Amino acid sequence: MLEKETALWPRSDPRRDLFDDAGRDPVSVLNNIRLTEHFKLKEFECPCCKTVRLYPALLEKLEHLRNARGKPVVITSGYRCEKHNSEVGGVPRSRHIEGKAVDVKAPPDEQETFRTLATSCGFAKIILYGKRGFVHVEI
Ligand SMILES: [Zn+2]
Ligand SMILES: [Zn+2]
Repeated sequence: MLEKETALWPRSDPRRDLFDDAGRDPVSVLNNIRLTEHFKLKEFECPCCKTVRLYPALLEKLEHLRNARGKPVVITSGYRCEKHNSEVGGVPRSRHIEGKAVDVKAPPDEQETFRTLATSCGFAKIILYGKRGFVHVEI
């Protein structure tokens, strides 16, 4: 089964050449690579340009955190290019630009527990964003 974001293109369509052998739009399959049991590269990409930088140690710690938490770890912001980082009001030397930080969805009442778990998984810095519903973790 093709995933929802992919589309099949008939062989007669002249735009077919722009698509891969399965007829999928290369943009929609870009970075659609499973890295660990729970994470795909796509989840870390910059939303504006689809580029991505990701430190293996960040991924390892996130997979560890996912298993310790026992429920999905949803990344709301992963890698950010310089442009996107300034658009979202990130600090100029944000670890997001280096591929060393992600923001993860977490309801306010779960954030303290999340901090404890993230600390035990070896994250160097954890910032709780209470009512905004996410936590920043970095290596
Ligand atoms: Zn970007
Ligand atoms: Zn962040």
